[in-house]
Amino acid sequence: MRKLIAGNWKMNGRLADGTALAVDLAGRAGGAGAPACDLLICPPAQLLHPVRAKIEGSAVALGGQDCHAKEAGAHTGDISAAMLADIGCSHVIVGHSERRQDHGESDEAVRAKAVAALGAGLVPIVCVGETAEQRSAGEALAVIERQVRGSLPGKGPSGAVVVAYEPVWAIGTGNTAQPSDVAEVHAHIRQLLNDILGDAGSGTRILYGGSVKPGNAAELMAVENVDGALVGGASLVADDFWAIAEACG
Ligand code: PEP
Repeated sequence: MRKLIAGNWKMNGRLADGTALAVDLAGRAGGAGAPACDLLICPPAQLLHPVRAKIEGSAVALGGQDCHAKEAGAHTGDISAAMLADIGCSHVIVGHSERRQDHGESDEAVRAKAVAALGAGLVPIVCVGETAEQRSAGEALAVIERQVRGSLPGKGPSGAVVVAYEPVWAIGTGNTAQPSDVAEVHAHIRQLLNDILGDAGSGTRILYGGSVKPGNAAELMAVENVDGALVGGASLVADDFWAIAEACG
């Protein structure tokens, strides 16, 4: 499966540096020796429009970091999946652990967002992952199974959704999961996807996220059932994001 390298800029980026990063990446993607993977950047909401203008027509796709489950209405500060599609997004991240923690998002709420994304023609990137305490208690696979079953929108064609395994303890900490642990979790998610999606399960991307850097990307991308990466901090530095993309082979 062709891998997807997705950059989650989180709440980082102003007009000048955000658009400069987008121009840099779009330029590299158009050059000779572009990496053998799909590229996606998910800037904060205020940068979606100016960034889109910079990457339009390039091999870099645009995604949102979250969406509301409703299409429109009295939801101050929120953005709908239809609005993201309208502005040129192809993907949206839902259920990132920072949103689950900061905004108390449940699996049910994440699933409603994923359903809304599909309805708007977007590919939801559904994030799951255990905390350090859950891992030390031996609960990682059970937590992930609960999140996958609770957050995924249900049956659909292959490629309609992406799952991102992001151990909470690895996000932004510099602590990366061991390849053997990543292999175990991704194999479990693959089984779940086969169960939930049937034939489409094998063609559904499972990304790994959590302190992916140029120095560990090749090892992580070589793990079975790792179909790309969701990259936070390193996606803010063009050279690093590019090196991670190149690690896809
Ligand atoms: C993320 O925010 O999805 C993420 C994986 O962050 P980082 O790469 O910085 O750990």
